[in-house]
Amino acid sequence: MRIGVFGGTFDPVHIGHLLLAETALVQAGLSKVLFMPAYIQPFKQGVQMSSDDDRIRMLNFATKDNPRFEVSTIECDKGGISYTIDSLRALREENAGAEICFLIGTDMFLNIEKWKDSDALISEFGFAVGVRPGYHTSEAEALAEKLKKTYGARIDFIDNPPIELSSTEIRQRVKDGDTIRYRVQETVRIYLLAREKEGQKRFEHTKRVVDLAVSMARRYGEDEYRTSVAALLHDYCKNPDGGVENDIGHAGMAADIAKNEFGIADEDLLNAIRYHTTGRAGMSRLEKILFLADTIEPGRTYDSISELRETCLKDLDKGVYTVLVELKAYLEKKGVAVSVDTEAAISECQGGKSWITEN
Ligand code: ATP
Repeated sequence: MRIGVFGGTFDPVHIGHLLLAETALVQAGLSKVLFMPAYIQPFKQGVQMSSDDDRIRMLNFATKDNPRFEVSTIECDKGGISYTIDSLRALREENAGAEICFLIGTDMFLNIEKWKDSDALISEFGFAVGVRPGYHTSEAEALAEKLKKTYGARIDFIDNPPIELSSTEIRQRVKDGDTIRYRVQETVRIYLLAREKEGQKRFEHTKRVVDLAVSMARRYGEDEYRTSVAALLHDYCKNPDGGVENDIGHAGMAADIAKNEFGIADEDLLNAIRYHTTGRAGMSRLEKILFLADTIEPGRTYDSISELRETCLKDLDKGVYTVLVELKAYLEKKGVAVSVDTEAAISECQGGKSWITEN
């Protein structure tokens, strides 16, 4: 078995990375590719970058459809400066009997002799070197010949489609409001745009909603991917300075953007976004999950929250009813009109559930 290990910062992972990995699977005869985000890349020390949490989440989204792609968090779990030699040795121990092959673009390969313990790295592990436009393949080939002679290294060249793209360019395009469609996998695009729109601080709430919604999806048998997308986009149009109007309208606006700008056609997913603040009569399982996850995510702190969390994790419908009633009481106290959808949802629960009168 030959396992490919693809190191990088992946801030964010883009299609240049994915195409190199996919091509290497075939051309280097790999059984799988482990994407291994660095915690701190030795040559990027002091450079501001996305958190390891964000980079790992995006990698998980980008690789989820490929059964032969995995994400290894070995360097992020360890923390500190990530030296490839240490990580590859640890992975070799974890995968006894497998041959480890390090995937690398030409730009990085040309500097390989400057890496920590490069002589050991080159003699102990195989390399699969991918084309990166702008970097001379002839220079890389000459270097490979030299390393083969000196260390008996195994170096394969991968004929991946040359994609002139970098994470730096993606980050810049997001900042400038330029399109990144097709440059990154679609969920990575949603992730990056939602983070940019909300700002890192508010996006932390979104991430907690994603996590809780996904764990509820697992528990209640809902599709985890649709749940994550709905949660990622639920507050896309929330504006903290937008007052009551935005409080009421942001969910519908986000559903419209999900449909028109992100091309999401799944009506149930769109409804989960549209009704996440009010609820409504006839909510689907996904709608209930997002409605609850937004209300009880771990960052929310109010008096009855732990009791509420327990209820929601035990019984979805009971949770929805409890939250609806608390929502109505809260709005009435604030003198804000209760949505007709919330009223309808409460009436529906009261009409059909015997446990409401029993408790
Ligand atoms: P940044 O712009 O932030 O420096 P990057 O796009 O170079 O990022 P990294 O995460 O640093 O991406 O790269 C990880 C690995 O992927 C490196 O080996 C690099 O050579 C390779 N790589 C990055 N972009 C491409 C691309 N467009 N084509 C082929 N290989 C690539």
